[in-house]
Amino acid sequence: MCNIAHLSAAPAGDRAYLKALVQASIHHFQEFRGAGAGVANGSCCAVMKSGPGPQDFVFGHSQAHNLDPDAPHHGGLFNPDHHAERVVYTAAAAHPAHHNHLFVELPPCASCAAWLQATTPHGFNVWYLYADTESMRLAHAYGTEAELATLDSIL
Ligand SMILES: [Zn+2]
Repeated sequence: MCNIAHLSAAPAGDRAYLKALVQASIHHFQEFRGAGAGVANGSCCAVMKSGPGPQDFVFGHSQAHNLDPDAPHHGGLFNPDHHAERVVYTAAAAHPAHHNHLFVELPPCASCAAWLQATTPHGFNVWYLYADTESMRLAHAYGTEAELATLDSIL
């Protein structure tokens, strides 16, 4: 049972935590984003904390299913099980003490929103940033500094 909201709605007490979370996602994925590099500009990314340390993060993205040879038989990206927020939440399952916040770049689709409501504990928070895939694709194309500046303008 979670709250799903745009980052701009984050309460003051959560903003520093969330800023570090989103910055980690930006820096992590810029290392291998771009044509032929692994994660395309149109691919949605997600992050959660995996521990109390400043570098303790776990990541998910919408192309992770490409690493699973069995995934094409289960719908690839057309199967919402493979969307970024589910990938990261599942990856973070080994770190339950740090399950308070999830950041995903796009608003969860209807299927993922229902899954998150059914799966997450009471009080869990899911934060998104971009309105739609095209906005996200453009933000990725503008690059890391532009992404960080956008984040600074929100949190
Ligand atoms: Zn989804």
